[in-house]
Amino acid sequence: MGYDVVIAGGSLAGLSAAIHCAGKGARALLVDPKADLGMFKCAEGAMEGSLSRAGFPPSPEWVTLGLYKLRMVSPAGRVLDARNRYKKLCMLDRTKLQLKMLGMAKDRGCEVRTGVRAGRFDLESGTLQLAGGEPVGARTFIDATGTAAALGRQCGVPRLSRDCLAIVAQWTMRATGLEEDSYQLYFGSTHHSPGGYSWIFPKGKGLFNVGAGGLASRMPKGILPRELVERFIRDRVPGPGKRLRFVASFLPCCPPLERPAMKSADGRHSLLLAGDAARLCVASVQAGIGSALQSGRWAGENWDAPEKYQAVLKEGMYRRLHASHRFKMGILSDGDLEGLFRRTIRSMGILHKLFPAWVEERAVDLLGF
Ligand SMILES: Cc1cc2nc3c(=O)[nH]c(=O)nc-3n(C[C@H](O)[C@H](O)[C@H](O)COP(=O)(O)OP(=O)(O)OC[C@H]3O[C@@H](n4cnc5c(N)ncnc54)[C@H](O)[C@@H]3O)c2cc1C
Repeated sequence: MGYDVVIAGGSLAGLSAAIHCAGKGARALLVDPKADLGMFKCAEGAMEGSLSRAGFPPSPEWVTLGLYKLRMVSPAGRVLDARNRYKKLCMLDRTKLQLKMLGMAKDRGCEVRTGVRAGRFDLESGTLQLAGGEPVGARTFIDATGTAAALGRQCGVPRLSRDCLAIVAQWTMRATGLEEDSYQLYFGSTHHSPGGYSWIFPKGKGLFNVGAGGLASRMPKGILPRELVERFIRDRVPGPGKRLRFVASFLPCCPPLERPAMKSADGRHSLLLAGDAARLCVASVQAGIGSALQSGRWAGENWDAPEKYQAVLKEGMYRRLHASHRFKMGILSDGDLEGLFRRTIRSMGILHKLFPAWVEERAVDLLGF
């Protein structure tokens, strides 16, 4: 059977695309090798504004906590506290959000096949081979397979080099003695997050996502990501805590794709890349939830207009993503970071006396959230 749209990947970008193209009446199929689409790998923090812009205003159904206070710590331990009443970090229950989105996609008529991996893809003929099954044909394919970019890679999207790849690892754990009303970022220590940062994100009721990550090219030889997060926990989490769930993964840390939409030579078939597959992670903070939801939405809404998808995506997101990547590349060493913290704290100290609210807001903006 032919479809209007086949979506590979059933996480945030893929589900968002499914909801919006099926909502427009497209005959859509979504495939994902996972059996359970509620499964995820993430610290679950997303700014309220990015969720609302993407069409998913925070709901108590899948937001466990709203946080206004942020603590940023330099490699040498300098502390920069920020509070922004306009910028709330929502802690998601990502399982609940993804299952809710799955229900919405199905309600709108999208066919969903779990336990099915997208395999060989040919844009010219508009066919995708499903692992262990038949090939499927469609006018448009949406690649929402995350860092793998499984379809895009077969159409010339380059493999990410070690300089463009972040390695992240995280424990969800029960702990005592950690602040529950602020999220904390520890930047750039070669000990636990070379070229990246470590984090403590409270989820409420004594639960925390505690993780560490850095650039693949800066990882010390022979050290597994798990060891980095263990080092961070030993340094920063009081008491033994109870480790509940471990994840480790790769994330893109590079500029967004120059061509997130492609067409076959005869113009009859197209491929749209969304979320991490289109390299839409905010490099400075390795955040991709908002961009995945938003780009999935735009891909779904514009499934029959690839040029428009590309234009809307570039117009809506690329300036910020490029700026964040440039910022990240300019402050890679611990010395650079320390200098930035020193200068920021000094200038903010003076300004803070005059315009406290404005300064606290700018401190959050520094990160490019
Ligand atoms: C430890 C960790 C912590 C993070 N914390 C945050 C955070 O706090 N805030 C934030 O904004 N971002 C965070 N991120 C990043 C965020 O999780 C990603 O940017 C986001 O999940 C991207 O969504 P996506 O839908 O593009 O891809 P993904 O969530 O990676 O999903 C890709 C989907 O494609 C499927 N797939 C893969 N290959 C195939 C195939 N061949 N065929 C079909 N399907 C396939 C996978 O099974 C998966 O379901 C974190 C990431 C990690 C790893």
